[in-house]
Amino acid sequence: MKKNAKDIRSKAFAEPCEAMLAKKGERTLNMSANPSFIQNGQYNIGHICTRLQCDQGLSNKTALRWLGAHGERVEWTFGDLEEKSSRFANVLQKTGFSAGDVFFIFLPKIPEVFSSFLGALKARVITGTLFSNFGEDALLDRLGDAKAKGILTRKSYLKKLLRIREKLPDLKFIILTDVPEHQAEDILSMPVLMQAASPSFETPLTTPDTPSVLHYTSGSTGKPKGVLHCHRSVLIQNRTATEVLHLQPDDIFWCTADHGWVTGTSYGIIAPWSMGITQVHFGGAYDAVEWFKILVEQRVTAWYTAPTALRMLMREEPATFSQFDLSKLRHVFSVGEPLNPEVISWGKKVLGHDIYDTWWQTETGAIMITNRPGLPIKPGSMGKPLTGIEAAIVSDKGEVLADNQQGNLCLRPGWDSMFISYFQHADVYRQKFRHGWYMTGDTANRDREGYYWFRGRSDDVINTAGHLVSPFEVESALLEVEGIAESGVIGAPDDLLWEKVVAFVALRKGYEWNRSLELKARLHVSNRVSTMATPQEFKVLENIPKNKSGKIMRRVLKAKYLGTDAGDVSTLDSI
Ligand code: AMP
Repeated sequence: MKKNAKDIRSKAFAEPCEAMLAKKGERTLNMSANPSFIQNGQYNIGHICTRLQCDQGLSNKTALRWLGAHGERVEWTFGDLEEKSSRFANVLQKTGFSAGDVFFIFLPKIPEVFSSFLGALKARVITGTLFSNFGEDALLDRLGDAKAKGILTRKSYLKKLLRIREKLPDLKFIILTDVPEHQAEDILSMPVLMQAASPSFETPLTTPDTPSVLHYTSGSTGKPKGVLHCHRSVLIQNRTATEVLHLQPDDIFWCTADHGWVTGTSYGIIAPWSMGITQVHFGGAYDAVEWFKILVEQRVTAWYTAPTALRMLMREEPATFSQFDLSKLRHVFSVGEPLNPEVISWGKKVLGHDIYDTWWQTETGAIMITNRPGLPIKPGSMGKPLTGIEAAIVSDKGEVLADNQQGNLCLRPGWDSMFISYFQHADVYRQKFRHGWYMTGDTANRDREGYYWFRGRSDDVINTAGHLVSPFEVESALLEVEGIAESGVIGAPDDLLWEKVVAFVALRKGYEWNRSLELKARLHVSNRVSTMATPQEFKVLENIPKNKSGKIMRRVLKAKYLGTDAGDVSTLDSI
């Protein structure tokens, strides 16, 4: 009975898009021919990144060099990664996980992230990753929506989970990385489980459509949605590692993205290891000198980072970098937000390299539109679509627009790493496909030479330091603060973060806005949602502008903040 339920569920994931593609005969249009790393029909990402690399003679090659914030260092070969991920696959099977169950990793960047991620995928468990700074609401929304069966975390995060545990009836196990003994029947010690588990695991044959990785992404309305991928996505992740990142066997690759974000899994785990590349990972936070030391001392040859990080580096005194010899560095890439032309010229001067901007999103699973070595850069443009990817600028009515006209950035469905569902929300998934196109939610234009230029989002989602923040989630959290009657949240331009979170609030009678209330509000959003979502600025209004149906008019708030014209306000209820 249970098995049936799961079968039906996984079929439903793929259905809306499969049906559409079948109708249009497009399913095979963008599919890559099977590359040599797909052997005997085995698409399992966990297997490809570990066992296959060992079978190809890389058992003793360094896979992971993990550098802790306090000088700790862990080095794993592909042989170690194969063993540890196999043990973890066995751990999950022994604790009762089966294919299609959902498991989350809620950890900072420590080595266990990598072994558990690949181990869970080997066991065909749907594997989600969470930012370690998520607050209770953010956790509850994601774990609850996905009906997660288990979570791997550390002792210091346990309290947060226990506070929401009773609202998560499906959560059967919490596994802790850093306790020497099991804490309770359902709060288990990873070291104990790993010790007892077999070091070998025969990964079941995994079809390309088997669900794999789950990342939650924020929209401008409603709760975050789980973007579900399948094992086939490794085809494009692997291909872009060569075609875009130009990775070669002896490269040392450093992707600075957190694993809570899709870049951290697609390019901080899967793409490089699917081709046997050594990766450096740093467990500490941003620090200009520390980062440059890593680039130099680890002899990093290819570096994938984000515009905010580059802009932070740009603010440092140029002398800070003069002592560093970056001659090993071959290529630098960035993703997540628009890359300003000034950053590109800074990169040329200080890093001695072009910085290649890459555009993609959680839903696309891999790089789609991109600059890359060999393609002349037009500073400020995101480059051109990857081979085999059809992009277009489309009007709301579905007409493909001419060069230089701004409209919806769309992709022709059917590429290998396309998401297969918004988990549990097939209706929302369906809405993303219109007029035969996948609507990315971004606006852009294409110039005559085929380069794409990002113009903005077509929704209210805020992109702060490369992280998408839902104004709805922040507004909801603010309403829980005593004294706040209404709230409206927008993204406003910011030199460093691209956009900052700005909150407008209206107070209840008898309350006054002061430093203490502001701190309370900040802390509350940080605890409930995440530090990234915490407003940088507050503005107090008498009323929050809403339309007749009660929808917050964020467009009006934005115009108010920027001092620009709000356009048509005839539907406003209050201003
Ligand atoms: P996420 O799904 O969190 O990775 O966010 C994807 C969104 O980030 C895209 O839809 C864009 O709005 C933005 N984004 C990603 N890469 C770029 C880029 N290179 N230039 C401009 N915006 C980007």
